[in-house]
Amino acid sequence: MKPEKYHFDVVVIGAGIIGIAVSLAHAKKGLQVLLVEKNPTFGQGISSRNSEVIHAGIYYPPNSLKAKFCRRGMVLLYDYCRDKMIPHKRIGKLIVQTDNHQKDDLQKIYANGLFNGCTELRLIDEKELKKLEPEVKGINAIWSPNTGIVDSHAFMNAMLIDLQKEGGTIVFNHQFEKFFPTDKGIECLVNSSVIITAKKLINSAGLDSVSLTKSIIGFPETYQGNIIFCKGTYFGYKNRLPFSHLIYPLPNNEGLGIHFTLDMNLDGKFGPDTEWVEQEDYKLDETRTNHTFKEIKKFWPKCDCHYLRPIYAGIRPKLGTKKHFNKDFVIQTTEVHNIPGLINLFGIESPGLTSALSIAEYIANE
Ligand SMILES: Cc1cc2nc3c(=O)[nH]c(=O)nc-3n(C[C@H](O)[C@H](O)[C@H](O)COP(=O)(O)OP(=O)(O)OC[C@H]3O[C@@H](n4cnc5c(N)ncnc54)[C@H](O)[C@@H]3O)c2cc1C
Repeated sequence: MKPEKYHFDVVVIGAGIIGIAVSLAHAKKGLQVLLVEKNPTFGQGISSRNSEVIHAGIYYPPNSLKAKFCRRGMVLLYDYCRDKMIPHKRIGKLIVQTDNHQKDDLQKIYANGLFNGCTELRLIDEKELKKLEPEVKGINAIWSPNTGIVDSHAFMNAMLIDLQKEGGTIVFNHQFEKFFPTDKGIECLVNSSVIITAKKLINSAGLDSVSLTKSIIGFPETYQGNIIFCKGTYFGYKNRLPFSHLIYPLPNNEGLGIHFTLDMNLDGKFGPDTEWVEQEDYKLDETRTNHTFKEIKKFWPKCDCHYLRPIYAGIRPKLGTKKHFNKDFVIQTTEVHNIPGLINLFGIESPGLTSALSIAEYIANE
């Protein structure tokens, strides 16, 4: 049987936050867009297992892609949420110094935030911290009033509705298998039975984005990269929580440290912790609770370990090795890998949700 054949200007792999945002940005330019997802519905990958925080762009090294996309993404996301009535809240965040040794580090984060354009940040002392969060123990803190929370599924849903209104096509239960770059575009084999030709192919397959490049005929091995999975488990608290803002310790090498966040139902959770895993595995492990408890105690001495329990886990896609991994997003264009029309998005971990609309804007202008 001959395969069915279709042609699109832009084909996007994966209906996560990034793939949906990128599809919408292209459709708004009047291009014929096809978004293909292997699962029966959208947002089942990294996009449904995160903290749902709208980040202000404080920590990221100046001029990094994270710094560039996060700040602009935050502005675009707040505007989009307001226009589309997506549940969100500019709830504010505290980065708390719990130890005297951390004084210089807190100052450095503050200075970095200012450099990244977060001029709304304020350094506050213990007294002011107590007023904001009476049960948090800290010596000093950074107050970030622009940090917020969003219902990430409502965000994805609103973008999908817009994508359909703009004439975009969305297909679920279809998986990309192989790619053949040709003079007329990239031919993509889907579900072993359909060939889709794309002038522009955007690989936003999240945890699968690196392994998919092995199926692109002629893709240079040097640029395939090595993906490693850093699992993060979240912990619920089966008792009243006394916080009304997001509370973070100082960041560590793997991420932002075990922090406290609220969702749009104002349910609180702690996490995510960090654990290197070999494969996509979301199993919950009670034995991780003790380490999390010790980290929480540093900023909330009244925490009672008996109330903590793991509730869900997500996986951060990192590029490199456990010791030396890339800390920035990677956007690979033709200039890098020499395959016309192909854009690979690798390592889109936090703040990918916040950055989605600005990453999409950038790629649509490529
Ligand atoms: C623990 C954790 C916490 C985070 N917290 C925050 C936060 O608070 N704020 C923030 O801004 N960001 C946060 N992030 C980052 C954010 O969640 C991600 O950057 C974002 O969700 C990535 O979306 P994506 O579309 O790239 O990936 P995904 O959501 O994984 O989407 C990729 C899609 O591709 C599909 N796919 C894969 N292979 C194929 C194929 N061959 N054919 C068809 N479809 C395919 C998958 O099924 C999947 O649906 C966090 C991330 C993690 C891991």
